Amino acid sequence: SAIIEIRDYSWQYLNTENPALNGINLDIYEGEFVGIIGPNGAGKTTLALSLDGLIPGQYHGVKQGTVKVMGKEVEAYPRGELQRQVGVVFSDPEAQFTAMTVEDELVFGLENLGLSIPEIRERLEWVTELTALKSLLPKPPYEISGGQKQRVALAAVLAMMPKIMVLDEPTSMLDPVSRKRIFEVLGRLKREQNNTVIVIEHSLENLIPLADRMILLSEGQVALQGPTRTFFQQI
Ligand code: ADP
Ligand code: ADP
Repeated sequence: SAIIEIRDYSWQYLNTENPALNGINLDIYEGEFVGIIGPNGAGKTTLALSLDGLIPGQYHGVKQGTVKVMGKEVEAYPRGELQRQVGVVFSDPEAQFTAMTVEDELVFGLENLGLSIPEIRERLEWVTELTALKSLLPKPPYEISGGQKQRVALAAVLAMMPKIMVLDEPTSMLDPVSRKRIFEVLGRLKREQNNTVIVIEHSLENLIPLADRMILLSEGQVALQGPTRTFFQQI
């Protein structure tokens, strides 16, 4: 069965005219790499927030339907438990950093998982190599470039090894070279791990070679979806 099951799901923020999401039905399977595209205001970020339980958690509005992750409704997870399964990287990584160095930033989340010191060391090594962050480990997060910050934010989520990763415009603030680097990391992840990855992205050029399936959101609805091979023939 699907690792994510969304049924007749709608969400309307308080004091707004129209629902941000309107009657969404989606199944996403384990190991799938899904690309989500759509114009500004289509509901992409709202969908990402819904998968991580931030909606309805930190927002006020009216919800209809269900969002299930691994067979369980997102609201049914105890606090913090859902976030171990679903790692979200938002487009503004600045807000996510709290530690004094990049290394501490990566270690912090792993300590919170209650991992042993050898396990923490092993994951740190793995993720540092994967995202090419070695030279940045001793640096304070505020001293590194925008592209490097996005790589650290991605590494911090990767290190937690969530079953599902949701990346909301992970390269929106990047130059083409840094963008390519992030997608290289995602490519390795796809080849070497069996994560379920959902990427919201404007850069189709980088997304298309990786995505198994594409979804077009428009005005809170799934306007079009299908295997990447055939998706663009339908437009
Ligand atoms: P996208 O990510 O595709 O740009 P969003 O999910 O950010 O779309 O927004 C979908 C709709 O919900 C938009 O009309 C937006 O203005 C509205 N919206 C998003 N966040 C809020 C919020 N916190 N309060 C009220 N309306 C919001
Ligand atoms: P994106 O298009 O990349 O999703 P937005 O610019 O739509 O980003 O939204 C950025 C932030 O502003 C989000 O946190 C979103 O929830 C919030 N936001 C968007 N629209 C509204 C709105 N109408 N009222 C309040 N907050 C909003």
